Amino acid sequence: MSSSNVRVRFAPSPTGALHIGGVRTALYNYLYARKMGGKMLLRIEDTDQTRFVPGAEEYIKKSLNWIGITIDEGPDNPGDCGPYRQSERKPMYREYAQRLIDEGNAYYAFDTEDELNAMRDRLKAAKVASPQYNAITRATMKNSLTLPEDEVKARLAAGDPYVIRLKVPRKEEVRLNDLVRGWVMVHSSAIDDKVLMKSDGMPTYHLANVVDDHLMRITHVIRGEEWLPSAPLHVLLYKFLGWESTMPQFAHLPLLLKPDGEGKLSKRDADLQGFPVFPLEWKDPASGDISKGFREEGYLSEALLNFLAFLGWNPGNNEEIFSMDQLIEAFSIERIGKSGTKFDIAKAKWYNQHYLRLKPTSDLVAYLEADLKKNGVTTKIDLARIVDLLKERIVFPADLYTECQFFFGRPTVYDQKVIETKWTSEAVTVIEAFAAALAALPATPDGPAAKALFQQVLDDKQVKMGKVMQALRVALTGNGAGPDLMEIISILGKDEAVGRLQQAVSVLQVS
Ligand code: GLU
Repeated sequence: MSSSNVRVRFAPSPTGALHIGGVRTALYNYLYARKMGGKMLLRIEDTDQTRFVPGAEEYIKKSLNWIGITIDEGPDNPGDCGPYRQSERKPMYREYAQRLIDEGNAYYAFDTEDELNAMRDRLKAAKVASPQYNAITRATMKNSLTLPEDEVKARLAAGDPYVIRLKVPRKEEVRLNDLVRGWVMVHSSAIDDKVLMKSDGMPTYHLANVVDDHLMRITHVIRGEEWLPSAPLHVLLYKFLGWESTMPQFAHLPLLLKPDGEGKLSKRDADLQGFPVFPLEWKDPASGDISKGFREEGYLSEALLNFLAFLGWNPGNNEEIFSMDQLIEAFSIERIGKSGTKFDIAKAKWYNQHYLRLKPTSDLVAYLEADLKKNGVTTKIDLARIVDLLKERIVFPADLYTECQFFFGRPTVYDQKVIETKWTSEAVTVIEAFAAALAALPATPDGPAAKALFQQVLDDKQVKMGKVMQALRVALTGNGAGPDLMEIISILGKDEAVGRLQQAVSVLQVS
């Protein structure tokens, strides 16, 4: 891969846990950077001090790290464009706001909250669909375009609170060629005179975002579709600041939709349906509330990665299994879809199952061992055999523990439905004979040998396997369904298996 001047950034605001949609945005940026041999930046957009949440930045970094996204330049490994936290860049923005004012593209506005509300009420009463501070209404407000110059100077000198607003031209077509959506055209009359700098001297998102993308030499802005409406405003800013020729290219990613496709995926929907929307568990520092994380719910990072990559992108063929390296190889912005993507949690589980199966037995043994320890279970059974038996059946590592309970104690309850329909005198005869045959063996058989023995008993009694198999299973495990029964017998050991069969015969009534 040759190196290039491609520079992309992930620019989250540290306002809480990182939503899974944000992880996807970071991932697409990363894939593109790596594919092009460019650089991936992390910029923390923390200019809105009222929404700052302690711990959020750390959380974001941990999440990216877990999923395998590495950062080339960011707060922890600055390049030549630092600082990488916007709150630490405050003085830089002032200069550009001033330039916009000096060149007539922005202005001071002194309106109080009450005056702004009165304006909106007035417009609502006049049936204006979306009341805005814009090219028309600005003429009726208290700003440096309407107030006499002396008064403006006096107010500024006196330290009157003010904001700086963009002077959006009244009649202009603003165009941009989005790499995902194609040409987007917005008439400037639909854009309001956005605040660029607040009364506390902090820039708003729009100014800071454009200034930083320029100063950080960002070549491609890949972000969620919710920012598409802001893009024309950003285009205006690039133009006014004289940066049109180096303006980054935009790629707005399709929305993540609820599983039924009806609207945007929210934490509430996910909670209702019992799946997480955050990569890692998050404890809200203010309320102490805990939100579920994919990691803690048992999703493997490689499964989540593969799943996320396909939420809005596809490789153009039927292949679905991709490692990070393969994703980098296959990724292209052209193959990002325009329409929203349903968040199909069943697919995430499917990926998890796939990647769990690929794990070496020793890794899965470690999961199971930890769960057994946590629950105070000790056993002499070779856990690798349990893992090999259950591997194909589990979706999450924790399923190993829940699915193997029957190994660690004799059944105390038996599946009632199976007893009612399958615990026949014929079954009992076969099971008694099988127990006797097992007991007579010199050593525990392996799975195939146990099966051969069972077949022998069936032949002897002239009973078909299908008629007694479930009864045998319920006698050994208490359950109506489960993994390979003959392998279970082999793992339990002959004495334990015989003991269980005898127990079932003595406690269960033939129906
Ligand atoms: N800070 C914005 C966010 O939280 C960044 C949007 C952008 O990438 O321009 O999503």
